[in-house]
Amino acid sequence: MADTLYFDHNATTPLKPEAKDAMLSVLDMAGNASAVHKSGRQARRRLEEARINLGCLVNADSRAVIVFTSGATEANNTVLKGCGAERFIVSAVEHPSVLNARKDADLIPVDKNGIVDLEKLEEMLSSIDCMTLVSVMLANNETGVIQPVKQVVELARKYGALVHTDAVQAIGRIPVDIQDLGVDYMTISSHKMGGPQGVGALVLANCVKVAPLLHGGAQEKSMRAGTENLAGIVGFGKTAELASVDIEDYQKLGALRDHIEQTITDVCPKIKILGKDSPRLCNTTLFTLEGVPSENQLLALDTAGIEVSNGSACASGTVKTSHVLEAMGLDPKEAQSAIRISLGWNTTKEDVEAFLKIWREVYTRIMARLTHAA
Ligand code: PMP
Repeated sequence: MADTLYFDHNATTPLKPEAKDAMLSVLDMAGNASAVHKSGRQARRRLEEARINLGCLVNADSRAVIVFTSGATEANNTVLKGCGAERFIVSAVEHPSVLNARKDADLIPVDKNGIVDLEKLEEMLSSIDCMTLVSVMLANNETGVIQPVKQVVELARKYGALVHTDAVQAIGRIPVDIQDLGVDYMTISSHKMGGPQGVGALVLANCVKVAPLLHGGAQEKSMRAGTENLAGIVGFGKTAELASVDIEDYQKLGALRDHIEQTITDVCPKIKILGKDSPRLCNTTLFTLEGVPSENQLLALDTAGIEVSNGSACASGTVKTSHVLEAMGLDPKEAQSAIRISLGWNTTKEDVEAFLKIWREVYTRIMARLTHAA
């Protein structure tokens, strides 16, 4: 077992060896995929193979267009700034790359389980009088909660609105079918599914288009200028190919996640697991330990060789309550005690047992200190 146990797969997932090999196989290639010579054509072939793999993974039809980007942040910004809509309705629990791209958006509230309020969405849609985009993520990065995107699309269609979904956390973890969901735009990213960082894609369905964020050459059907990141895209494509078959196996992580939740709540019944009553990704658990700031838990676990994350963002020494937990109605103090454990493709039962052993020790130590201080 490694010295450090990594439980932060929702932040980024280690590179799969097959993706690394695929990337290495093109690193020595000189060709620019836009060049007409042999090397260029070879690069183009590898790039298009990756595009096909991604299309298969999301079940895109032959009219769909996949635009490679530098990641999901760029893909989200491209839709929210370039789709041509005049009004934006986005869920209150979106990733900052959606929320900060459109600070003028109206927010759809979520309930205490983290699910978007569809009645409220319908009320918001019923007043639209211009081209509108609704953006609701497929799965939340903090809680793992899966949103009813298909129902969002049904409502949006009733009022003639376009729909975007950020499927970054869902892709490779649950089956994602863009035709079944019916969305117009879908964002995906490579590094949450075992591919390299710095590459993502925007999938355009239903013949929609976007204006480019970056202006330059005519790459990616003039929707994303700049020479494509060939090695990154090839690694991304490889993980898409693997995910198409690995998704069933991935669900086994659910038993490990449930074992973690059962054990920690047996040890400390006041622990609250967030989003537990909603459909959730099988790899994610986010839980609060009231009275113990998440930073203290993170530091103690990190010192003991366990890498996890918290539900609240830390900026220049001040703890900001997570907007996701705030939207779910959590008391700020409670929200600031949340830590997220996210498992992934290389997490083993042994890793989970080692985590639980260390977590128990850390918990006992923290509680003893709290009791002593009281
Ligand atoms: N959306 C979601 C839901 C995410 O979890 C992330 C990564 N934290 C992003 C977008 C941004 O992805 P990228 O790192 O590829 O820009």
